[in-house]
Amino acid sequence: MPQIRIFLLLFFGLNCYDSSAVSPSKCNEDKKIDKLVKKALLNFRESNFEKSLVISRNALNAATAIKDYCLISRSYNIIAANFNELSDIDKAIFFYKKALYYADKTDNDSLKCNLYNNLGNMYCFEKKQFDVGIRYYKKSVAYSLKINDLKEVYFTNVNIAWAYFDIKNYRQGYLFLKYVNSTKKKYSDGSTEVIVDMLNGIYASSQNDDKAANAHFLSAIESGKRCQEKTDLSNAYLEYSKFLNKINKHKEAYDALVNHYNLLEELYNVRKLKKASLAGVSLELDEYKRQIDKVEGEKVEQSQSLRKSKIIVILFVLISLILLILIITLIKNIRFKKKHNLELLEAKEIAEEASLLKTQFISTISHELRTPLYGVVGITNMLLEEHKEISRSQHLSSLKFSARYLLSLVNDILQINKIEENKIVLENLTFNISDEITVIKNSLSFLSQKNNNRISIDIDPEIPEYLIGDKLRLAQILMNLVSNALKFTKDGQVEIIVNLSKVEGKLYYLDFLIKDNGVGIAVVDQSKIFEKFVQVGRKDEDYQGTGLGLSIVKRLLGLFGSTITLDSDLGKGTSFSFTIAFEHDLAKTKSIIDEIEVDLTSSEIYKILVVEDNLINQLVTKKIIEKNNYTCKVVDDGYEALKILENEEFDLILMDINMPLINGFETTKRIRLLGIETPIVALTAFDKDEITDEAISSGMNDIIIKPFEPVKLFKIINFLINEKNAV
Ligand code: ADP
Repeated sequence: MPQIRIFLLLFFGLNCYDSSAVSPSKCNEDKKIDKLVKKALLNFRESNFEKSLVISRNALNAATAIKDYCLISRSYNIIAANFNELSDIDKAIFFYKKALYYADKTDNDSLKCNLYNNLGNMYCFEKKQFDVGIRYYKKSVAYSLKINDLKEVYFTNVNIAWAYFDIKNYRQGYLFLKYVNSTKKKYSDGSTEVIVDMLNGIYASSQNDDKAANAHFLSAIESGKRCQEKTDLSNAYLEYSKFLNKINKHKEAYDALVNHYNLLEELYNVRKLKKASLAGVSLELDEYKRQIDKVEGEKVEQSQSLRKSKIIVILFVLISLILLILIITLIKNIRFKKKHNLELLEAKEIAEEASLLKTQFISTISHELRTPLYGVVGITNMLLEEHKEISRSQHLSSLKFSARYLLSLVNDILQINKIEENKIVLENLTFNISDEITVIKNSLSFLSQKNNNRISIDIDPEIPEYLIGDKLRLAQILMNLVSNALKFTKDGQVEIIVNLSKVEGKLYYLDFLIKDNGVGIAVVDQSKIFEKFVQVGRKDEDYQGTGLGLSIVKRLLGLFGSTITLDSDLGKGTSFSFTIAFEHDLAKTKSIIDEIEVDLTSSEIYKILVVEDNLINQLVTKKIIEKNNYTCKVVDDGYEALKILENEEFDLILMDINMPLINGFETTKRIRLLGIETPIVALTAFDKDEITDEAISSGMNDIIIKPFEPVKLFKIINFLINEKNAV
């Protein structure tokens, strides 16, 4: 019958409230709330549970508003006690735990001690979970000892002893009862006296000390009769009855039990009355609970919304920061890009300027080099022809070789530059592949003899007789490859093989293979050799190349839309191969041939005027012309030319371009202004493409680049003179 013990428990509970209410609180309590709490406690003690709950709820609201955890905890404690009294044990435990939660946030150990004790009561005597309950009691004792409140220790030990006896663990219970007995005089009050006597009775009975047990029970009953509160007396009668029954005094046992029930009836009626008056209230109590929950909830909400708004603020700050960083990066980027663009533009301009300068530099340098080279080559040739006795001179042939080397270097550089500047456009000329290759073979015979090599030509008979394409560039490619093969092969064989690989409409694809059995090229060097000025294993004194040959070949093949393939084994030989498509169209070939082939043969003696400021070149040109049985007059500059033309007639004028006082273009213009229509051919070291436009607009008829093949000069001379005479 748990109800019987509630009073006792409440008694202890009330004691706890009393102690916390009376003792000076460590909390910084608001006086008004403190008053409310005390009022709620008073009402509770007078069994005005409804009022107590209303007041404690108000106290809780006020305490929550000022966040006073001590007062919050005390308010919950009273609320829990009210529910306990109304036998709503779960709610009581719930609110005791809440009270404990808030008490733990304070340093009020007295409050914690009370709450642990009350929770111990709940679990031991209501829930019958003795181990949990005893754990709570022991915590309560620990707090009491901490604050040195020995009265609390005494009360809680009574509870512990009773709990152990309830589960028939007399040995353990007695340890606590012993302490209670030793401090009884100091702390006991009317109610505990009854209980302590009764517990001693139970223990003595358990030890079969019937005499002592009887005395203790009777003492308990006597004290109980003096006490206003009858619950304890009722308990004492019950335990006494059990004892009497045990010692076979059944009649007395029965009487004690009757007394117990009578008291219980009485108490039950009182409780019933209390309960009845509270029946209507209990509904409201739920409402209070809800409101209390709401207060709690609002608090949680408040803290949640506070947390939320904190998060929002943090997020806002974070997003703002990120945006700021983004904007800064964007601005920096834009600035950087602007700067970068400007830099790029500047760099582009500089690059363009540099490229222009490079082109100008190359053309100027090649002009300046070609002019004296013309003299060197020309005079060497003259010496060799005029003085046959020295034609075998080693020095003279070295001179000729060096001059030719220099000339080819200048031409190569100019050529590469032109290809890089995209100035080369392939021409359509008609040719016979066999003839072209034979010419190449013959022109390289000196080289093949030098290294004792044989050149073999193998041309696919399927290849048509006439093809159309840029034969000059093809010759250049083959010359480079074959001369390399001859240079890097000794006592060996160089093969030139051309095969027809496929025919697509008018396009005939020719596979070229230039193969030698010379020194070969190491694998590591194979990719390098196509770069400009790269020579492998070249000796300083060896002037056999410029390192530009393969670079030119690769670029020229690029113009044909072809690529070169290298296959080489060090010590075994090298082969280069590529494919070029040439057009085969008989009708077109015919018209091309018709256009070119003019009768250049002439037995006439023409009179040529040479306008040239360079004395050596004057000499060379004059010699070449006179050698062909033409007459020749040389003047040093444009003015002299104009002067002589006033009185004399010529069949053709060879005009240098770069002359002091008045240049070749200006001189030509003035000659034309005089109404003189004599053909004028520019004889210049400039690159043809560079001056063609200006030459034609000044009134010139053709251009010959120094140094030139004499045959070419005479072909042009004859052609122009014939053309003029035909008009
Ligand atoms: P170079 O003027 O030196 O011949 P090239 O560009 O024509 O310049 O050739 C580059 C280098 O490639 C040469 O110096 C040589 O080492 C190597 N080479 C080219 N052709 C051959 C070959 N047929 N056999 C061996 N080595 C070669």
